[in-house]
Amino acid sequence: MSPEKNESTAAEKTLTNDVREEKTGNETGHEAILTASHVTKQFPASGGRTLKACNDINLTVYRGRTLGIVGESGCGKSTFVKMIVQMFQPTEGQILFDGKDITKLKGEELRQSRKKIQMVFQDPAAAFSPKMKIIDIITEPLMNFKLIKRSEREAKAKELLRMVELPEDFIYRYPHNMSGGQRQRVGIARALALEPEIIVCDEATSALDVSVQDRIIELLVKLQKEKGISFVFICHDMALVQSFAHQVAVMYLGNIVETLPGNEVATNAQHPYTQAMLGAIFSTKMDFTKKIESIESEAPSPVDTPPGCPFQNRCDRCMEICKKEKPSLKTIGKGHEVACHLF
Ligand code: SF4
Repeated sequence: MSPEKNESTAAEKTLTNDVREEKTGNETGHEAILTASHVTKQFPASGGRTLKACNDINLTVYRGRTLGIVGESGCGKSTFVKMIVQMFQPTEGQILFDGKDITKLKGEELRQSRKKIQMVFQDPAAAFSPKMKIIDIITEPLMNFKLIKRSEREAKAKELLRMVELPEDFIYRYPHNMSGGQRQRVGIARALALEPEIIVCDEATSALDVSVQDRIIELLVKLQKEKGISFVFICHDMALVQSFAHQVAVMYLGNIVETLPGNEVATNAQHPYTQAMLGAIFSTKMDFTKKIESIESEAPSPVDTPPGCPFQNRCDRCMEICKKEKPSLKTIGKGHEVACHLF
């Protein structure tokens, strides 16, 4: 039976799930594999204005660990990971991977570095050609890099499907003959084909049913343990990210406003935006006689960011200084930074 047919009934997303092997979010003692320093990305906007998608981002990915990046749509998290996989060039800053600034690589060196950082997309149905069979989809990167011969494709495709717990005979199926969860497993198999050191998952589970999401996360955790892969997991679902990410970075309007160990999100998040997101998590265990928390008003446009704190118009603890001075990230604990004038 295929994994998606064997799912448990609707699993509830709460802050209690935890599939990390180690319950510590402390990254001390782990090797840094990718470091983004002062990364900024701006796009030209109408009327000669500038859209500030990412502002001075500093983040580190550790070998064999998961960095979760969470925030609302439009907060800049997808733009940031597109710079990691070199789909966008930063406007400023550097991204060091294996000791080299990958933003400066060109030609064959750039092509070779792309092998080591692969991406899994939100919608595998859109990412795959509907005319290609699964064998062609998952062995295409290997053929492009001339790493296998045509005669070796079938064995390699079966091996990759086994890794993602799909039946070997799926290699001759088309994507439209599979469920959403099965297609996402194929997306992961394709990302694994080149034996990357980092896999970036851009909302990779957001389009799936909740019970299927849980099975995909369990698969990622298992692959991480077996192969030592680092994951950068982009998501707007705080409850899901904190259940398995070792470190969580919270983004708001192009800025990192808080970073903290994943296992401290539920108990020790300090930034008013992170706390507001936690308050808005839906659970069937909620007391429905009380008002459900929500974050009031809209985020400002990234083209017209106000001076001072980017969260000021939605923050119920806003002070005079918040309207004038932008808070910088300050360390307030082990692996815990907050950008807020309250600290
Ligand atoms: Fe709220 Fe001020 Fe902190 Fe911004 S700096 S989150 S406005 S208290």
